[in-house]
Amino acid sequence: MKIGILCGHHMPDLMKNPEKIRVDTIYGEIIVYVSTLGSHELFFIQRHGEESNLPPHRINHRGNIQAFASSHISSVFSVGTVGSMKKTIQPGDLVILHDFIDATKSRSQTFFDDKRVHVDMTEPFCSSLRKALQKSCEKIPNVTFHKNGVYLATEGPRLETAAEIKLYSMAADVVGMTMVPEVVLAREKGMCFASLCLVCNMAAGLQNRLTADEIAKVYKKKEPVISKIVRLAIQSLDEKQLCQCPSDVSKATL
Ligand SMILES: [Zn+2]
Repeated sequence: MKIGILCGHHMPDLMKNPEKIRVDTIYGEIIVYVSTLGSHELFFIQRHGEESNLPPHRINHRGNIQAFASSHISSVFSVGTVGSMKKTIQPGDLVILHDFIDATKSRSQTFFDDKRVHVDMTEPFCSSLRKALQKSCEKIPNVTFHKNGVYLATEGPRLETAAEIKLYSMAADVVGMTMVPEVVLAREKGMCFASLCLVCNMAAGLQNRLTADEIAKVYKKKEPVISKIVRLAIQSLDEKQLCQCPSDVSKATL
């Protein structure tokens, strides 16, 4: 299978001896790193761009997902860092998302500007890929993970206010700036998409916030275990996944 991986940081433990390729899309050129894992081909995109300098509101989400689509990728694992809004979810924990709330403001959310496509979002994250991530987490000792989680996507680049977190925490568990519209665009392309999030800190008002540099350090420390979880999940994938993701988009066009 061809598997896509999106992350804000490189994943050297997962991507062994990758080949760097350039994929032209109508949204711009995307750098993709390609390697293999058993019989699978892995396609890795650093979502913030090659220089890792694009802030969340300027990420080329459509370009990234289009590059996967052009490479005939059917399943995508997305890795992100988040702040927790719940005391039961602590820094260092992992969360497998099952739903999201979108509070972004200025992002292109669709590939379909010229026709009416209303893709179903009842279950935005693929049940098969989520199950694969869950089973992988269960195999690794000393990993605290949550098999469900609601992601609140903010526009950024500013962090949230304490009042916003109080409001958001009524309906969501973790907060971040990148998962939307990634998941929406993947769904429009009929891809299976799942997200594994690393909790780096508690959200505003629940602790002193970490700097971006400190968050990168937390991620770097956890990168080997995250890579291992994603690797185990990919190795467990079955070509004949039992999910509705590929067919959902065909029912979405008026
Ligand atoms: Zn699926």
